Amino acid sequence: MKITQANFVQSNSEYQKCPVPDKPEYAFIGRSNVGKSSLINSIVQRKDLAKTSQTPGKTQLINHFLINQTWYLVDLPGYGYAKVSKTEREKFGTMIHDYLTNRENLLCTFVLVDIRHEPQKVDMEFMASIANSGIPFYIVFTKADKLSKTQVENHVEVYKTKMLETWEEMPQYFVTSSVKGSGREEILAAIDELNLG
Ligand code: GDP
Repeated sequence: MKITQANFVQSNSEYQKCPVPDKPEYAFIGRSNVGKSSLINSIVQRKDLAKTSQTPGKTQLINHFLINQTWYLVDLPGYGYAKVSKTEREKFGTMIHDYLTNRENLLCTFVLVDIRHEPQKVDMEFMASIANSGIPFYIVFTKADKLSKTQVENHVEVYKTKMLETWEEMPQYFVTSSVKGSGREEILAAIDELNLG
């Protein structure tokens, strides 16, 4: 898919106020600092559509972007940021959960994890909770350029092994680097396929 248009639409704290759900929608989520904004910018080939920040946990709203006038890309707040108070974290948790479980045009969620890290409890729990709610998701490994090809393969294997302790199969996944632009074509192809339905 060629990206011809990418426009910010609006930010919301409630799913009820999000744009009319008349187009397919894909949400991106992960722990703060996982590289979500960078990946979104890489996917749509814009430098600063999603706001990258050195301050983790900054994006605390549901951000809608309209791509090629045909589908919505949604930037969700990063979870698991320790410096945000427990009350704040719970508030975002509820907002994200309400959005994910009620947004009727949401076709798939991309859950980002840093390829360098061991499988994290907070990510495992998040994936289990959305799966329990029947929300389809893909795993997106980020920052692959920080490892060698062999290390990438090894880390993915470790992840798979961990997932298979509780899951019947490894969910579909993508290995990406926003620095190199790798993985974006594959993600766009998956979105294309879902758009065609
Ligand atoms: P967010 O908080 O999840 O939106 O993360 P950002 O996109 O702001 O990225 C967090 C940090 O990781 C920034 O310093 C980015 O420059 C860096 N980063 C993000 N993606 C990549 C990547 O693919 N490769 C490398 N080497 N660094 C990345």
